[in-house]
Amino acid sequence: MPLEQVRTLIIGGGQAGLTMSHRLKQRGLKHLVIERHRIAERWRSERWDGLRFQFPNWSVRLPDFPFPHTDPDAFATGREIVDFIGAYADFIAAPIRCGVPVTALRRRDGGPGLIAETSDGSIEADNVVVATGPYQSPVMPALLGDDIDLFQVHASRYLNPDQLPPGAVLVVGAGASGSQIAEELLRAGRRVYLSVGRHTRLPRRYRGRDLIWWLSAMGIDRTPVEQRGPSRLLPLITGAYGGYTIDFRRFAADGVTLLGRVKAAHDGIIDLAPDLAESLANGDAMYASFLDRVDAHIERHALAMPQDPDARAVLSDPSCVAEPLRRLDLRAEGIGAVIWATGYRVDFGWIEVPVLDARGEPVHRRGVTEVPGLYFLGLQWLSRMSSSFLSGVGDDAADLADHIAARS
Ligand SMILES: Cc1cc2nc3c(=O)[nH]c(=O)nc-3n(C[C@H](O)[C@H](O)[C@H](O)COP(=O)(O)OP(=O)(O)OC[C@H]3O[C@@H](n4cnc5c(N)ncnc54)[C@H](O)[C@@H]3O)c2cc1C
Repeated sequence: MPLEQVRTLIIGGGQAGLTMSHRLKQRGLKHLVIERHRIAERWRSERWDGLRFQFPNWSVRLPDFPFPHTDPDAFATGREIVDFIGAYADFIAAPIRCGVPVTALRRRDGGPGLIAETSDGSIEADNVVVATGPYQSPVMPALLGDDIDLFQVHASRYLNPDQLPPGAVLVVGAGASGSQIAEELLRAGRRVYLSVGRHTRLPRRYRGRDLIWWLSAMGIDRTPVEQRGPSRLLPLITGAYGGYTIDFRRFAADGVTLLGRVKAAHDGIIDLAPDLAESLANGDAMYASFLDRVDAHIERHALAMPQDPDARAVLSDPSCVAEPLRRLDLRAEGIGAVIWATGYRVDFGWIEVPVLDARGEPVHRRGVTEVPGLYFLGLQWLSRMSSSFLSGVGDDAADLADHIAARS
C-alpha cells in the first residue's frame, strides 16, 4: 500500500527540479521534491575541479534569483554554481527530501495517477515531473580493454591532473569538456593527444559582446524545438582562463597533438579516422557562419558595434593536421591515461510507464507526455534551445506549472 500521497512529485533536486518547485509554489500548488543524493549533486560530483561555467556571470540567473557576483564578465567556478543552487533552494524554501532515490515509476492500478517507488517507500502522486537531468549516464566506449596498463576515466569522473598517473594523456572527444580538460592538462605540463570529431565551434566574444549576449539579442536561444536543425552537436565554448574562443590550431601551436576520430583499438594501438582536416573545416564553417549572422544582424539593425577582424583570422594548419597520424601506439607514446570526453545518454530504465521510444528517450511535447500527469523538465531542447541551460529552464517550468494548475 502507498505510504504517502502528494499532489505533485518532482524527481530530481538540480536546477530544473528546484525551479519547478518555485513555479508550483507561485501558483499555490502543493508538491514534494525527491533527490537521491544532495541538491545540485551533478555539479558536486560529476564535474572536474577546474571547470568554469560557460555563461558569463551577468547572464546567470534562476527565476527571481540572480547570481551574486563582483565581475559581470567573469565565469563562475563549479563550487560557486553549487552554492548558488543551494542558496536558491533556501530562497524558495523548497520542500525537498534528499538521499531518497526513486527506483521505479508506474501507473496507479485501476485509476489515474502514478506511483513512485523509493528507497523510503511508495509515493502516490496525481502529477510527476521527471527532472533527473539532460546528462545522466556517461558514454564510454569499451574500446580499450584491460590488456595494457592504462588509467581510463570518463570526463564526469575526471577531477584534476594529479588524479592521473605520470606520462602523456589521450583525451578522446573535443567538445566543451574534452577541450577544456586537454588545455588544463597541457598547462599542467602534460603531453596531450586530443581526438577531435565533428564540433560546433563558436566565438567566445565577437564585436564587443559575449556569445551569450548575441544568442539572446538575436533570439537564437529562444529558437523553438520545431526549428531545431539536424545537428545534435553542443556548442564548443569555454569560460576557463577568463573565457576565450577555442581554436584547435592554436591548441596545436601550444603543443597539443590533434588526432582524428578514434575508430578502433587493439593491443594498445588505436586506429584513427582520416577526418581531422574535415572536422576542423566543418567547425570553421560553423564559426564563420555565426559571425556572418551577427554581422547581418548588426547591419539590419544599424547597430554601432566595433569591427573585429581578428575574429576571422585563420591560423595555418599545423603538421598534425597536414600529416595526421593514422595509428597511435599508446605504449610507444608513453600514454598512461585516457580521458573519455565522449558525452552522455539518458537513462530512464526505471520508468515503467509507456512514454519511452525505442532508444529509451521520452516522447513528449514541450515536456507534456501522453500519460496524464506525467511531465519531463530540463532535457535538451525540451521546448527551445535554452531549455537545458541553467538560466533557461525557468520558462519551461512555468509552462508545466500552468499545465498542472489547469489539471487541478
Ligand atoms: C561538463 C558539463 C558542463 C556544463 N556546463 C554548463 C554551463 O556552463 N551552463 C549551463 O547552463 N549548463 C551547463 N551544463 C548543462 C546543464 O546545465 C547541467 O547538466 C545541469 O546540471 C542540468 O540541471 P538539471 O537540474 O536539469 O539536471 P541535474 O543537474 O542532472 O539534476 C538532476 C538531479 O536528479 C537526481 N536524480 C537522478 N535520478 C534520480 C532518481 N531516480 N531519484 C531521485 N533523484 C534522481 C540527480 O542526483 C540530480 O541531482 C553542463 C553540463 C555538463 C555535463
